[in-house]
Amino acid sequence: MQQKIILKLSPADAADEAIIISNIAKAAAVKITSVSGYLIVKKSIDARGKNVYINLTVNAFINEPDSSNIKKTFSFKNVNPDSKKVIVIGSGPAGIFAALQLLEKGIKPIILERGKDVRARRRDIAKLNKEGIVNPESNYCFGEGGAGTYSDGKLYTRSNKRGDIDRILDLFVNFGAPQNIAYDAHPHIGTNKLPQIIIAMHEKIKSCGGEVLFEKKVIDFKITGSKIDAVTTANGEIFCADAYILATGHSARDIFKLLHFKNILIEAKPFAMGVRIEHPQHLIDSVQYHCATERDINLPPAAYSLVQQVNGKGVFSFCMCPGGIIAPAATDEGQLVVNGWSPSKRNNAFANSGIVVQVEKEDAVASLKTAGIETKEDDPLIFMKFQQMVEEKAYKEGGGNFKAPAQRMQDFVTRKLSETLPVNSYLPGLTSSKLQNVLPGFIYSALAEAFQQFGKKLKGYYTNEAVVVAVESRTSSPVRIPRNAETLQHPQLSNLYPCGEGAGYAGGIVSAAMDGERVAKLIAVTI
Ligand SMILES: Cc1cc2nc3c(=O)[nH]c(=O)nc-3n(C[C@H](O)[C@H](O)[C@H](O)COP(=O)(O)OP(=O)(O)OC[C@H]3O[C@@H](n4cnc5c(N)ncnc54)[C@H](O)[C@@H]3O)c2cc1C
Repeated sequence: MQQKIILKLSPADAADEAIIISNIAKAAAVKITSVSGYLIVKKSIDARGKNVYINLTVNAFINEPDSSNIKKTFSFKNVNPDSKKVIVIGSGPAGIFAALQLLEKGIKPIILERGKDVRARRRDIAKLNKEGIVNPESNYCFGEGGAGTYSDGKLYTRSNKRGDIDRILDLFVNFGAPQNIAYDAHPHIGTNKLPQIIIAMHEKIKSCGGEVLFEKKVIDFKITGSKIDAVTTANGEIFCADAYILATGHSARDIFKLLHFKNILIEAKPFAMGVRIEHPQHLIDSVQYHCATERDINLPPAAYSLVQQVNGKGVFSFCMCPGGIIAPAATDEGQLVVNGWSPSKRNNAFANSGIVVQVEKEDAVASLKTAGIETKEDDPLIFMKFQQMVEEKAYKEGGGNFKAPAQRMQDFVTRKLSETLPVNSYLPGLTSSKLQNVLPGFIYSALAEAFQQFGKKLKGYYTNEAVVVAVESRTSSPVRIPRNAETLQHPQLSNLYPCGEGAGYAGGIVSAAMDGERVAKLIAVTI
């Protein structure tokens, strides 16, 4: 029989299979030899008390063979030139999972991706990190696998109403992700492992007869009445299909501008902006695991999640990367954006996280006016313009070549230029700056108050050992591309399906993947 058993173990015991089995036997009141194996279905860390525990929920196989190694399978159909066709613009998680779902339904996906394949993209990212040169088509946001490929690969989402999270995690495992993502409370793949998984997905799409085409930047839509007839790419090629999925991500500013120029409805979407904070990892470990020295070797580097209301505005931590690296995530020259990632082992010496502040329309309007930038309140691109304005200031303040302006945390709060900056993970380099020259006043003051409050919640967090790096500006899309809630079609164009983060329907890898699946399923019953 199979029995669900919940265990609370020390980190060392939870890392030892023999001890887990003996605890299962004890809990089930059977002999150790009756337990043939177990499958972990949930694993979480409980660090609330003085001692840290690992909570494990397992399906134990008692007096029956161990079937914990059975992988979920998926049936992708072979398609041919006569099959129905869907053009998927963008190969991020939304686009790729849409394409895989289309194959399950027997529809041919043709992915058009502006950037390069994963391997070529890696060279462009290295150039950005080492030489401060950005390729506007191939960077941390653009290229095979989208922003997801060179992301951190945290797969935790709160969007459990939008789709089947377990199915997305099982698909990742099917294409090579480690099994533990299916049961960890905060699953994480790591930047070093994601590219291989994306390549495996790409190979599957091609082997079933789908197409994945690189350096095919969509620059125009040919429209007749209420339908798209074709899309044109920057190299002059024209592609036609039965339906078009627009999954171009939150950084495709040219797509937002194109839609607006062609009078295709888009809407301004509030988002959040702030900075990335980096602490020494051992400091966060000691705060979270209550340890004076090194953390227990059986525990992962500690994470945190913080939220604070300041003057009616939400300030919150975002995309926390224990053992991680701060990365230059801009897509264009002259604009600076920081984000974070970590390798699968999370074995860097630093803990970084975005700390961001909600931005509402009145904030964006006021900041643009102060900067002397002409704006109209009903401009759907207003948040995008605000975002770009701050990114340009950050670039200038950093001194060029993607050096990022930075300040120690307590100096930030007291508005003092830091005489030195701590050793840090940001490869292009940091420039000591007064970040009030970069951040709009309402963001600066909300952050300054929040840092002090966070220091009360996590003793040791508010310290000059931490560095504040500007600017974390691409937290989500500044634009929404509307769609009908039931048909998921754009209100003006019946065969255009806005999808994923860029269209405003996802906020991370898993939610973008679920949105891609959702759109593809509806297309399958529509075309
Ligand atoms: C450094 C970093 C770390 C991150 N860490 C995490 C994390 O740990 N967990 C998490 O859940 N999320 C993380 N994210 C966010 C996550 O990557 C995105 O939420 C997710 O990738 C959105 O998926 P998407 O498919 O909607 O869009 P994207 O992944 O942005 O993909 C859009 C694709 O469209 C392509 N494209 C754009 N314009 C065109 C055009 N005109 N023609 C053709 N192609 C075009 C782009 O090149 C890109 O490949 C991180 C992001 C970054 C940058």
